[in-house]
Amino acid sequence: MFFVGCHLSSVKGYLHMGEEALSIGANAFQYFSRNPRGGNVKPFDEGDAGALVSFLGERGFAVPLTHAPYTLNPCAAAEGTLEFARQAMREDLERLEFFPEAMYNLHPGSHVGQGIAVGVEKIAESLNLAMFDGMKTVVLLETMAGKGSEVGGRFEELRAILDRLERPERAGVCLDTCHVFDAGYDIVNDLDGVLEEFDRVVGLNRLRAIHLNDSKNPLGSRKDRHEKLGEGHIGLDAIARIVNHPALRELPFLLETPNELDGYQREIATLRELRA
Ligand code: FE
Ligand code: FE
Ligand code: ZN
Repeated sequence: MFFVGCHLSSVKGYLHMGEEALSIGANAFQYFSRNPRGGNVKPFDEGDAGALVSFLGERGFAVPLTHAPYTLNPCAAAEGTLEFARQAMREDLERLEFFPEAMYNLHPGSHVGQGIAVGVEKIAESLNLAMFDGMKTVVLLETMAGKGSEVGGRFEELRAILDRLERPERAGVCLDTCHVFDAGYDIVNDLDGVLEEFDRVVGLNRLRAIHLNDSKNPLGSRKDRHEKLGEGHIGLDAIARIVNHPALRELPFLLETPNELDGYQREIATLRELRA
């Protein structure tokens, strides 16, 4: 099965996202767990959430990705910021238990001058506090561009976080194509080599989802600027190899390109053509 979709707004509720995804040819999607900037969360509507679960089952959709707000910093230096990240993650994870086999994607964090080693320790501690025994949701650490003091720009950093988790079986990785390219992994000229490295350092068995984006900037720029498919430095040939790669092709592919719905619909159609 080819699972492909995009990031959608959650403001109109859960079921609406499923219907919207279907209307643009998607069978997968991602949404923010709460306001991406302020971090506010709407009250949970169990009827609406249940309707989405039924819809996804009937339509054969992939499990959606619930993305934590990118303003959360699980390795913040300031105590208040760190505490907010931990509480928000815990609340999100408790809510996600309503959904079967949910996936919760997050940016590991920015060490803001504390250094990678301290960042890794704090992120793991934050996750150990937010995660709980018996949880069914899988937490995904996103590969980052290495912009500023971001942790997670190197596969080794993700591995170090995973190694410190008390519930590692509830954790995995989401690979963002723009981010890894920006971090210096050459998925255009050496996709096999990058995936071999990922397998050696992290393990392909931990890879659960792909964020499919082109990049406005060249290899190793560390800028994290997504581009529409085929209009950036990754290009459609490389994108085609990514969606068809034997190690990746069963994973859900989620677009986070600078598009409105119509643009996403066109990109999803393109991807379905590129899929061999
Ligand atoms: Fe992200
Ligand atoms: Fe991403
Ligand atoms: Zn990004």
